[in-house]
Amino acid sequence: MIILVINSGSSSLKYQVRDGDDVLAEGLVERIGEAEVPDHAAALDRVDHEVAEALGDRGIDAVGHRVVHGGERFSEPVLIDNEITRAIERLNPLAPLHNPAAVTGIRAITQKWPDLPQVAVFDTAFHRTLPEYAWRYALPDELYRTHGIRRYGFHGTSHAYVARGAAELLGVDAFTGVIAHLGNGASVTAVRDGESVDTSMGLTPLEGLVMGSRSGDLDPSILLFLLREGYTEKELNELLNRNSGLKGLTGTNDMRSVSEAAESGDKRAQTAIDIASYRLAKYVGGYHVAVGGAQALVFTAGIGENDDNFRSSVVGKLGALGLELDAERNAERSRRARVISTAASAFPVLVVPTDEEAAIAEATAGVVNGS
Ligand code: AMP
Repeated sequence: MIILVINSGSSSLKYQVRDGDDVLAEGLVERIGEAEVPDHAAALDRVDHEVAEALGDRGIDAVGHRVVHGGERFSEPVLIDNEITRAIERLNPLAPLHNPAAVTGIRAITQKWPDLPQVAVFDTAFHRTLPEYAWRYALPDELYRTHGIRRYGFHGTSHAYVARGAAELLGVDAFTGVIAHLGNGASVTAVRDGESVDTSMGLTPLEGLVMGSRSGDLDPSILLFLLREGYTEKELNELLNRNSGLKGLTGTNDMRSVSEAAESGDKRAQTAIDIASYRLAKYVGGYHVAVGGAQALVFTAGIGENDDNFRSSVVGKLGALGLELDAERNAERSRRARVISTAASAFPVLVVPTDEEAAIAEATAGVVNGS
């Protein structure tokens, strides 16, 4: 089954065409809204052209959309119809940058290829199993009832995929442990018997770990303080989502540059790594408790898969849990799922590469074949 995986941004459209594990085509259309690509329909024409060239006389069988917010309703991927599209649209206030773009992408495809089955795969879905004591904030109930203010969690497609990969590597039916997805956005999830029981991102992807340009956890009074200092909502949003995290601490949001700077003796870069790895180590300790004793700690995504220095900085802070990295295994570069701890480590530390497109394509095929 040939599947087109679509990740729609407000001004970009990322796509991949897959047949099982084979990637037949992929690309990115940027600057949607400008003269050359006036709208998502025009972007799709471009994708259509590129895909047709790659596929020859074969055609696409289904489309899988990455949808950031599925709210409380969606705990699984679903076949899209008009009612589902409107339901995704109703969640716009919870993900004002992402959901409108996904809806635009869905409608553009419905118009261009009305007969093609489309599936929505939600970033929040895997976290629908969180117990109430983990998803509820200590705020008046009214805020939850009227505005849906609660923890939703994100990166769910990746965490679910990596949990399955970790279970396979460990030779168990269902994974119990802690997964750290460390990319430009970063989150950590506590998984018990294959289900998410806690996760660091909250109402939005801003909460939790130190990220490329997001602050992660803060004392909320900092916002009140800055409001009194005259910051506007727009400025606060920019500050916390675009100019904080590694970017705020070092000037760049790219961990590779931060790592290189730290290795050549840059103090600010080293401090940023210390702050980010300490924050993650605290979460791992907490989530070890949340899952009732982890079977493994798993690293994934750009930093988790490639930055041995950052991994050792995190695990070095987890001596109290009895974790110990094998320096040689940790330094090995590979695309394979692997163990990077010593035999003496209290539980294994793993690297399991994530592949969100593969997970979306798999989920899409599952829904289409089942319907
Ligand atoms: P992602 O969002 O999963 O693509 O991850 C992006 C992040 O991974 C960026 O901060 C990159 O600098 C970082 N990254 C990728 N490769 C490496 C590497 N070899 N060493 C350190 N960081 C890396």
